Amino acid sequence: MSKPVRVRFAPSPTGPLHIGGVRTALFNYLFAKKHGGTFYIRIEDTDQTRFVAEAEDYIFEALEWLGISPDETIGKNEKFGPYRQSDRKAMYKQYADELINSGWAYYAFDSSEKLDELRKQAETNGKTFIYNHTVRETLDTSLNVSREIVESRIANGEHYVIRFKTPVNETLHLHDIIRGDVNFETSLLDDKVLFKSDGMPTYHLANIVDDHLMETSHVIRGEEWLPSMPLHVMLYRAFGWEAPEFAHLPLILKPVGNGKLSKRDGDKLGFPVFPLQWTTAEGTSKGYKEAGFFPEAVINFLALLGWNDGTEQEIFSLAELVEKFDLKRIHKAGAKFDPEKNKWFNHKYLQKQTDATLAELFKAELNTKGISTSLDIEKVVSLVKERANFVTELWDLSDYFFEAPASYDEKAAKNWKDETPELMKQVSEVLNGIEDFTSANIETLLKEWMTTNEIGMGKVMQPLRLSLVGALKGPHLFDIIEMIGKAETKSRIEKAIHTL
Ligand code: GLU
Repeated sequence: MSKPVRVRFAPSPTGPLHIGGVRTALFNYLFAKKHGGTFYIRIEDTDQTRFVAEAEDYIFEALEWLGISPDETIGKNEKFGPYRQSDRKAMYKQYADELINSGWAYYAFDSSEKLDELRKQAETNGKTFIYNHTVRETLDTSLNVSREIVESRIANGEHYVIRFKTPVNETLHLHDIIRGDVNFETSLLDDKVLFKSDGMPTYHLANIVDDHLMETSHVIRGEEWLPSMPLHVMLYRAFGWEAPEFAHLPLILKPVGNGKLSKRDGDKLGFPVFPLQWTTAEGTSKGYKEAGFFPEAVINFLALLGWNDGTEQEIFSLAELVEKFDLKRIHKAGAKFDPEKNKWFNHKYLQKQTDATLAELFKAELNTKGISTSLDIEKVVSLVKERANFVTELWDLSDYFFEAPASYDEKAAKNWKDETPELMKQVSEVLNGIEDFTSANIETLLKEWMTTNEIGMGKVMQPLRLSLVGALKGPHLFDIIEMIGKAETKSRIEKAIHTL
């Protein structure tokens, strides 16, 4: 690679960052780090009508939570700043003018009413109106009148746009790192608007000018931008600039069907599609953070949406991803979003946390539930975490450590026979006599007592578990007994005898 690697994530702040946008940011981040390059963020807010004020902060907060913050952006190493297009507004006009002067662009004065009329006319003839080489010579453009007239109309404050003059009858042979060779017929393209008389460039012009000025080496972005690639390459050519390399990432598809995963799917299908929660007048959509996902798990499942390292490996740390990432291993086909698999990733990352970390997180949960306890939370967590996907599930898996069962599982209660109360009384007495009240010791002594008195294991163990837990679930019974202690064990046995 000759040029230093400089890649960018260039979101438009029109709402919360969708998980697909996060994946684009991640792949840019991984590529930059892999090649010792720079990952920067540029805010593309030229379309002021779609601008949402909170969206910009949201983008930075989300990437920070995920641990993939940019090396350069607004307020950080502003080597090529400003990094917000609205703050670069004054820069673009000269480039639009340059294209006019070199004949690569022209002024168009057509009113929106006129264009609507042409669209409707085409529609009634079963056609689609395209503003291109077939009409540009006949419409109200600078291609048909003298320079003086154009200048005086502009001086008079007439509204205009500047359009790209797409070449006719040319096949563009382009290359995409993921898709390979892609060809485009220029005659089929429309003459896109590059600049408007309100002084604002459109996405296309601003994007190309900035990618050039900010020395972008690779453009890694979603597949929905592939149709813009020919225009972008032609713009580089028109300016006489070297184009960056392109890589268009596959779409992220809905869990069922073949549609593209949309911002609304999360609320509709009941899983997050945003990294962080997002609130509007209509309500709040939960993010992965609020749903209890570890950022590392989110990074991991996003990395596998369209990429793999060629092996069966599924769990990758961020550092490992950086080491193994390769744009050539990204596939073209859409990647199905699987919310169940995402939970599995979180499960794996939960198991990786130390008990101390999980205990801290669980304590915060207990606090919100108003539970105060003298139990060793780290121990509780170590006993039940194996079955948890989320920290929020730890309570349901361990509530019996903190509280005596309020009810007993009906099916399990069928094991409570006529002789059970008497047996349980005896068990309670045996336990009462145990000095060293530790799991292993309790187990040895209770089992010794059962053997000596020829009492079957099942007769004791199941009713005992039912008394302590309220159901036939949970970890090793003697670990539970040690945890809750002698007095609590006895009191729960007594309660069960009374209730069952
Ligand atoms: N502003 C565009 C977006 O919202 C950026 C597309 C590109 O990366 O060129 O996705």
